[in-house]
Amino acid sequence: MLVRQTMRDPGGTDNDKYAEHDQRELADRNELYSNPKHPYTQALLSAIPMPDPDKEATRQRILLEGDVPSPANPPPGCRFHTRCGYVTDICREEDPEYRNMGTEAETHWVACHHAEQFQ
Ligand code: SF4
Repeated sequence: MLVRQTMRDPGGTDNDKYAEHDQRELADRNELYSNPKHPYTQALLSAIPMPDPDKEATRQRILLEGDVPSPANPPPGCRFHTRCGYVTDICREEDPEYRNMGTEAETHWVACHHAEQFQ
């Protein structure tokens, strides 16, 4: 599992506030962990065991299938499309750009063509 805590801060301040995964989603750490919008983030977070036994008993793990893309030779379009259960034609053809799905004050950047349907 790769979830990278980042020092990146688009505004140049508050450097420990943001979390991102593999440069596909960038938001305030609490926002990202409580409201992930990218399918890959959701899958990564679903793999984390819950300390509460009741919540752990009902945790729904999202299992990824398909080929892991080569970082040296990524596929065209969305680099996650070989493993995404929501893939469509546009995903295979166009690399999604970051879009702010938060607010101007509380940004939540997501690079996914269909992120609105995962809210
Ligand atoms: S752009 Fe398409 S393939 Fe990539 S994460 Fe979003 S739905 Fe999945």
